[in-house]
Amino acid sequence: MDWTSYLTRAWDAVAAWEASWGAFEPHPSLALDPDRLTQALHAYAERLHGNYPFFHPRYAGQMLKPPHPAAIVGYLAAMRINPNNHALDGGPPTGQMEKEVVRDLAAMVGFPEATLGHLTGGGTMANLEALFVARQSHPGRTIAHSTEAHYTHRRMGEVLGLETVAIPTDAAGRMDLEALEAALRSGTIGTVVLTAGTTGLGAVDPIADALDLCRRYGCRVHVDAAYGGFFVLLAGEDGPLAADVKRHLRAIGGCDSVAIDPHKHGLQPYGCGAVLFHDPAVGRFYRHDSPYTYFTSEALHLGEISLECSRAGAAAGALWFTLRLLPLRADAGLGPILAACLRAARAWTSRLHRAETLQPYTEPELDIVTFVPRLNAPTASRLDAAGAALFRRAMEDPDDPVFLSVLRVDSERLRRVVPGLVADQPQVRILRSVLMKPEHEAYVDHLHTRLAAWAADVPGLIPPIP
Ligand SMILES: *Cc1c(COP(=O)(O)O)cnc(C)c1O
Repeated sequence: MDWTSYLTRAWDAVAAWEASWGAFEPHPSLALDPDRLTQALHAYAERLHGNYPFFHPRYAGQMLKPPHPAAIVGYLAAMRINPNNHALDGGPPTGQMEKEVVRDLAAMVGFPEATLGHLTGGGTMANLEALFVARQSHPGRTIAHSTEAHYTHRRMGEVLGLETVAIPTDAAGRMDLEALEAALRSGTIGTVVLTAGTTGLGAVDPIADALDLCRRYGCRVHVDAAYGGFFVLLAGEDGPLAADVKRHLRAIGGCDSVAIDPHKHGLQPYGCGAVLFHDPAVGRFYRHDSPYTYFTSEALHLGEISLECSRAGAAAGALWFTLRLLPLRADAGLGPILAACLRAARAWTSRLHRAETLQPYTEPELDIVTFVPRLNAPTASRLDAAGAALFRRAMEDPDDPVFLSVLRVDSERLRRVVPGLVADQPQVRILRSVLMKPEHEAYVDHLHTRLAAWAADVPGLIPPIP
């Protein structure tokens, strides 16, 4: 596909519309010297080449990948106009598109047609807004989240002046329901945050069961699905996810709010999160007036239900455009992309089980793989050093590097999968790989072969006695 030609066409499509308003001279102060522009572009490209190769399947580290070219085309066209989705005064078309994509996301997670929601700068803002609403509806009550939840919940609790409590997780990184119920019995908890796809392991909390519990104790339930939300597409009857994961993802539809990041698994550039509220009546908590905006239309302005003011209309436009081409479906569009990522994670994990120099840490529920080197007479300190060394060795290889990420886990927890581990320090850095590009499926054999070979000769690693 010649995406460059589509970029040019997107640029030209807007240029034609601009011309229809009549010609005028751009101010001379804005003119650029072509030679200096060329030089600056050269220097800029050079600087950008200092990035890790996020686009390549050899980059299998953090939750990072370039947007789909369709999103870039969609973003570029709207950015040329630069609408501001704060108010319909800032650009009615992308405001309308935002309402449409919010409806699409709501339908995907099983929220009602009347769902109140909007795009945000990212998952952090989406979660902050959900917790802000939680505070307004349950003032002074504590927020519970799991120990594996994103650190943002604790921090946003501080921002909002709310107590937070961390509920322990099981061996797979999912919230422990007995511990949750014990905390609920205290009567102080107003909102429970469940995570659909933890940032570390991609674990899905037992949402369906936790929801029942929370309802019994009169709590609000917010789902942080910033990472895993789109996997709901694979949670249908014949979806490829594990049965319990499907049941829990389907239960999101009965929760009070959800945060989803289109800039993670929704093929979008950064600056695109979303928050959805099951009950549109929570819009009253946002009520405010603005002396500057909300004048062009009686319809709802997105700024009236959002804590942020200026937001890129281009972000909404890009998502709308992308979803026309790659819809939120199991059998087409985003579904097959996510399914390939899931298969990649499973394939790698099954190879790790059979490997001599490496072993998996958990079974992936989504597309995140975690593993450790296999050591003789393992201690936490040696395993930690070995994991860190392997991470460096892989990314610094001059010919065929592999980029992973590192996750710190409790030594005690690691003992469950590394028998005989001597916990001589509290935590261990293990290896983590987010396989969020469908191209990883064809590449995991290579990733595994490289890692397994390096693991055999990284200094600090003791290969097993044959
Ligand atoms: C990424 C992530 C966040 C934070 O979202 P940003 O878009 O980075 O602000 C919150 N929760 C979870 C589970 C995440 O994976």
